[in-house]
Amino acid sequence: MYINDLNLSPLLVAQASESYQSGATLNRWVEVLVDCPGSTGLFTYRLPAQLEIKPGDILSVPFGAQQLGAIAIRLLTKPNVDLPPEKIREVEDIVSVGFFPSAYWELLNQVAAYYYTPLIQVIRVALPPGLLGRSQRRIRLVRSEGAGGSSYLLASPNPLAFLTPTARQVWELLQGQPAGDYSFVYLQQKVKSAYRGIRELLRFGLVESYLEPPRLTRPKLQKAVTLTGTVDRDLTTRQREILEVLRRRGGELWLNEFLQICKTTTPTLKGLEEKGYIVIEEREVLRTEQGPALVGDSAKSLTTAQASALETIQTLDGFAQVLLHGVTGSGKTEVYLQAIAPLLNQGKSALVLVPEIGLTPQLTDRFRARFGNKVSVYHSALSDGERYDTWRQMLAGEPQVVIGTRSAVFAPLPNLGLIILDEEHDSSFKQDSPIPTYHARTVAEWRAELENCPLVLGSATPSLETWVSVRRQGAGGRGQEEGGRSYYLSLPERVNSRPLPPVEIVDMRQELQQGNRSIFSRSLQEALQELQERKQQGILFIHRRGHSTFVSCRSCGYVLECPYCDVSLAYHHTEEKAPELLRCHYCNYARSHPKFCPDCSSPYLKFFGSGTQRVTQELARQFPELRLIRFDSDTTRNKGSHRTLLTQFANGEADLLVGTQMLTKGLDLPQVTLVGVVAADGLLNLSDYRASERAFQTLTQVAGRAGRGDDPGRVIVQTYTTEHQVIAAVRSHDYQSFSQAELEQRQALNYPPYGRLILLRLSSLDPIEVQNTAQIIATALSTEEEFEILGPAPASILRVANRYRWQILIKFAPDALPKLPDWEEVRSLCPSSVSLTIDVDPINIM
Ligand code: ADP
Ligand code: ZN
Ligand code: ZN
Repeated sequence: MYINDLNLSPLLVAQASESYQSGATLNRWVEVLVDCPGSTGLFTYRLPAQLEIKPGDILSVPFGAQQLGAIAIRLLTKPNVDLPPEKIREVEDIVSVGFFPSAYWELLNQVAAYYYTPLIQVIRVALPPGLLGRSQRRIRLVRSEGAGGSSYLLASPNPLAFLTPTARQVWELLQGQPAGDYSFVYLQQKVKSAYRGIRELLRFGLVESYLEPPRLTRPKLQKAVTLTGTVDRDLTTRQREILEVLRRRGGELWLNEFLQICKTTTPTLKGLEEKGYIVIEEREVLRTEQGPALVGDSAKSLTTAQASALETIQTLDGFAQVLLHGVTGSGKTEVYLQAIAPLLNQGKSALVLVPEIGLTPQLTDRFRARFGNKVSVYHSALSDGERYDTWRQMLAGEPQVVIGTRSAVFAPLPNLGLIILDEEHDSSFKQDSPIPTYHARTVAEWRAELENCPLVLGSATPSLETWVSVRRQGAGGRGQEEGGRSYYLSLPERVNSRPLPPVEIVDMRQELQQGNRSIFSRSLQEALQELQERKQQGILFIHRRGHSTFVSCRSCGYVLECPYCDVSLAYHHTEEKAPELLRCHYCNYARSHPKFCPDCSSPYLKFFGSGTQRVTQELARQFPELRLIRFDSDTTRNKGSHRTLLTQFANGEADLLVGTQMLTKGLDLPQVTLVGVVAADGLLNLSDYRASERAFQTLTQVAGRAGRGDDPGRVIVQTYTTEHQVIAAVRSHDYQSFSQAELEQRQALNYPPYGRLILLRLSSLDPIEVQNTAQIIATALSTEEEFEILGPAPASILRVANRYRWQILIKFAPDALPKLPDWEEVRSLCPSSVSLTIDVDPINIM
């Protein structure tokens, strides 16, 4: 992929370079994305007559005084810039042909169009950070006699006589180097207009040009710079520039690299570090994520339902959308594994998308146990280097399985045979910001169509979008409408006919009435007691959001808030001797816990709520013998800690796993018999049209962790609103009636999946300006009759990281696509101090 495979016939070589420039081919232009920090727009270049360029090729172009890597985006018949054509510079050369396969290229364009995002920004999501910047362009002598041109030339008594002085200079330099190999940059420094000489040598087949991947060996520890703050206070233009470079490179760079790129000094960076914008620290240099050694695993004999689902998937030829609706513990993963196995033997690859990284250790282990080193993992928590290496490995085209999170939907796997989205209902598949605000399920569907392969969506609690779309096409069983491109497959029972665990609902109002002031109901207390006696394991789920662990003064009621966001600070205390910290969950601002109230100096400053810490402290008090593991964003911050904690728990080193949302996803531990939900109410009462759907999914998923082994399971859900429709559906494991009731409400209000939404998010440091702009835009849009406008309204948390946030919701019918506004015009209504994000099909509209 990195070797230049530009083939020139000997015939061309024999001719003088000028003679094959014909008038007809002179008017060819190309827009490129230049790989240069700080450059965002497209640049137009002239195409030299002898180059055949396609969108997606990697080029080298002159840029200022440099020669840079660039990606060809679009061919033009006439330049679209206000420059006399003769002033437009020429593409220097093609570095790599067909870097993006054409279907992949089409996908990127489709994403750009649907999500109203400039193509460049889509490319940046798809490419690992700094892909071009990390590779180095090099020139080396062609030593083999294979190339007709060179042998012809070299056979002549004095080959150099054919060359111009510049080319000769370059040639001699290369001859002087033992390997005959120099970087392009070095040659440029040594020889004036070296690129002309190099072009000539390339044309004669005397040298070849290639991209050298980044070096694989690095010292174990190296200083890295990480972007931490986004707050725009007290910065000089220069400092802002430096931070912008860092942000663009993915927010993380090695210190020495960063100094070079920005041409800045360590003291300057130290200054930024003191202001809290960056952190400079030693980092271990890891290249590809290594799993633990695993015992090989072979295909299980399938249940009847699994076998019939697999059979359907395997008969699919080309694109189809499949919903694999299997209750928790029904063995969906086994179906995925057996669907993939024959593909690998046919030389094809598979892409498996999963919601979050907390879930991948177990899932990737299962895949690795089955397919060994054919499995690689690709997600944003990998370091740049790991991502880069995984990316290159994918391009090599060997049949393989890539498991990854949202952005892996863009993994450049050639020869795709199958795409799987596991837990397809999960909202982490949607990107809220920055643009493109894509949904991996939507993109996966397009990709499967373009690659002509099946897409399998697996879930115990399908999203209503998927449910409706699959059901609509194929009412019951297999959808044969529209050429049978949509299938509903069901795994209605757990493996080995294990029952789903009974769900007990406890009314916490009654507990209080009957004198129980503990955060644990008597049922849950009994169950915890039994757990210990029977040597079984349990999971305690806590829904934590926003105000659950705020700190307030018992004397005056003062609440400690983030100075940059309109939210209270959350109390954090990770271990015995660690300092007590208050942290903002929105901007990550942190401060130490003050001893006295900042307002009235009272010493009675306390934290409230039932966050994981509060619950674990209460557990320690009531059940001192119970061994606990906390599993939340505090204890899983370090790389690999998910795996460590889960392994400890699986090995029986603790009785109870206490944690948040992360616990709901995919955990398969046969020894877990008890699942407790401390308070379901936080989930039920969110002011969002999706709150019920999300609550049902979360509670059903967390309940599904119980009773997956031989011992029967038991679920206890504590709540103050037992009468809620979601609670009833969770109790009876009844997806059908829940979805039916919920869909009726959605239809009545024209919400998705019946209506479509676009959310405009506006934000600014200036509270007045953003409000005014929101009003102006809403007024401008209200002249359109084809859609309904809700707002403008302040976001539910008005200020985050010092930016004030407003939003406008646009609602319209999905079938008759309305004439949408011209977003460029809408953008032009935004002053530069207000930023606007267009969120298509928003999931999070609070
Ligand atoms: P799901 O993803 O549907 O919740 P899993 O794929 O995690 O379910 O499967 C649940 C458990 O059942 C796993 O431990 C898996 O190894 C096991 N399992 C799956 N299929 C079979 C089978 N056909 N026979 C025996 N065990 C199976
Ligand atoms: Zn006070
Ligand atoms: Zn904050």
